[in-house]
Amino acid sequence: MSIDTDQRNEIDARFEELLARLPDDTPSRDLVRQAFGIAKRFHADQVRKSGEPYLEHPIAVSNLLVDLNMDAATIAAGLLHDVLEDTDLSFEALSGLFPAPVPALVQGVTKISRIHFDTSRHHQIENLRRIIMAMAKDIRVLIIKLCDRLHNMRTLKPLAPERRIAISQETVDIYAPLANRLGMVRMRTELEDLAMYWLYPEEYQALATAVAKNRRLREQEVQESMEVLRARLAELGHPNIEITGRSKHFYSIFRKMKHTGQSFEEIYDLRALRVFCRSVAQCYEILGQIHSIWTPVPGRIRDYIGMPKPNMYQSLHTTVIGHRGMVTEIQIRTHEMHEVAEYGIAAHWKYKEGKLDQTLDRRLQWLRQLTEWITEVGDPNSLLDALKKDVFADVVLCFTPQGDVIELPADATPIDFAFAIHTKVGERCVGARINRRLATLRTKLKHGDVVEILTSNSGHPSRDWLDVVVTGRAKSKIKHWLKSKEMERWVADGWSALNRILKERNIEVTRAELEAHLDKLKEPFRLQTREDVLAEIGFGSISPQAALSRMNPDWSRARRAARKKARPSRRSEALVIVAGMEELHVRLAACCKPIPGDPIVGFVTRGRGVSVHNVDCPGIARLRTTDDSARLLPARWNVKEPVVSNVYLRIEAYDRAGLLMEVTQEIARQNIFILQCQTRSDKRKNLAVIRIEADVSDLRQVDNVLEGLRNIAGVVRAERSNRLMA
Ligand code: MN
Repeated sequence: MSIDTDQRNEIDARFEELLARLPDDTPSRDLVRQAFGIAKRFHADQVRKSGEPYLEHPIAVSNLLVDLNMDAATIAAGLLHDVLEDTDLSFEALSGLFPAPVPALVQGVTKISRIHFDTSRHHQIENLRRIIMAMAKDIRVLIIKLCDRLHNMRTLKPLAPERRIAISQETVDIYAPLANRLGMVRMRTELEDLAMYWLYPEEYQALATAVAKNRRLREQEVQESMEVLRARLAELGHPNIEITGRSKHFYSIFRKMKHTGQSFEEIYDLRALRVFCRSVAQCYEILGQIHSIWTPVPGRIRDYIGMPKPNMYQSLHTTVIGHRGMVTEIQIRTHEMHEVAEYGIAAHWKYKEGKLDQTLDRRLQWLRQLTEWITEVGDPNSLLDALKKDVFADVVLCFTPQGDVIELPADATPIDFAFAIHTKVGERCVGARINRRLATLRTKLKHGDVVEILTSNSGHPSRDWLDVVVTGRAKSKIKHWLKSKEMERWVADGWSALNRILKERNIEVTRAELEAHLDKLKEPFRLQTREDVLAEIGFGSISPQAALSRMNPDWSRARRAARKKARPSRRSEALVIVAGMEELHVRLAACCKPIPGDPIVGFVTRGRGVSVHNVDCPGIARLRTTDDSARLLPARWNVKEPVVSNVYLRIEAYDRAGLLMEVTQEIARQNIFILQCQTRSDKRKNLAVIRIEADVSDLRQVDNVLEGLRNIAGVVRAERSNRLMA
């Protein structure tokens, strides 16, 4: 097949049409014309599968870019987007012909690999990685690529069936979500509907038939609703309000039917209107008036103006029982909001400057973070899942107290937030305030939360965090930290294990000598460094005895120093472990004074860490019935050895001479130290109440002493109490 003169003329005509759509600006037109000249020269006689001249394709792609109001450099790059891949033109040659950024844009598009038959995980990962790297450099690369893909999807028919399937699948898996992520809803909608046509031909036909069947009736009803609403709004002082109907696209109906199990009628019977306002204030005003005209369905009002969606979408949404009692979804927006809703990032494009405005640039922060993370993590195994989560999952926008936006995937926690700010912040975070209230690190962040991360120099990641975080970045940073710290700890443990056994055996050796001896263990245990040797000893895979005998056979024969028993090294550990709050400041509540052995519960206070209470503390019982019950956390004691703690005792007895002495003697007999004592006598009833604050080391001691006290003559009651004073 070759291209005849008619076809050549046809192509030139198509190009002139494209040029006529550009703004009347000579340098821009010259650049685009030059790009066409080069494209024409290098694609010269190439034909598409359909038999059309290849140039049809780049011209069509550039027309789509003009639809999006892209700048001249992008349109030129659209014309050239396939020259590096499909012709002999080199990047160097291209760079000599065109000013920046045209060559870089073309190269960026080229680097995003073309579709392979191979839809293996590995290929998908690689492709996604390339797209993200390329778009991080210049988002226009992705916009060109999306237009390229859209035109390919529109002209898929001449391709072999398996290719159509592969391209369509990749389109719904990768390109449509990326378009959505950039707010390019119209692009996404068409990509998905085209892909559905090839991937689910039967379902597509069924839907098309169903939609066509009652279109007439539906359109009539929508028309009526629109007229009624327009008239009522005019009465209320808003004349000439523009209202349109809108239809759902096929793929979204299909997806909703699959997800919810609802029938076509249930989904499609919804009436949907769109109201265009002249200002933001008018949007809210009209929302109120619509609610006075038609009854709103509770819980269906959304304010995406005050709180835009992460992809920049803004509108007010409501659902009402509308005209003739029909459920009607209504979107209220300004024309500017509509532009963004349809074209997303492309609507924000500043044509003249050819770069994104500042606010938009900040919104692309997620992209930079993702890129940084991809560069750091080489491991492709978890990459695709993680990427899908980061790029495609629902996103929550949270704020720092300074008002900076941090974008996170759904279900992200304050830990993810902390790592998104900075690695050091993540590593040192010990708690968080969400909307000024102290919250656990496990709290799932919600859209719009203001998050303040509390850090401490002693704070550090814990293994549990891995179960909680959802961003790939936080996960890899925590793993990295744990790995290095575990190593450090094992090395330290290795040292102390060796020193202990040397001491036990009365072996005198300098540190330098010992270090030199460590080398002897490298080879037999296949270890690289002295640190590795120590870590293995600390970890317990090499016993200190075995290590010693390898170092110096005499040492293993050295006698144990019998007398001095080695003390086990005691790590300082928290007295109480509260689930998920290992890193937070924990203190024992003053109201009920729990002591080791008591069943306890943790309570996240507002601003003062976690307080630990007796399970049956009256204060806690009250809390359980309120919203604050969510702030109660399971807790357990973390003690193996006696810990001194104070406790309050209350003794009621018939008063008599010598009572107080007997009571204090009994307490002293149990080796309990009295800190304070108060007695009060009720002469009339002849009753005495003795209150004692005492140091105890565990619950058994308290039980014993109470037992002993009850045996004292005249004692009516002996029990633990919540406080010293009545
Ligand atoms: Mn192409």
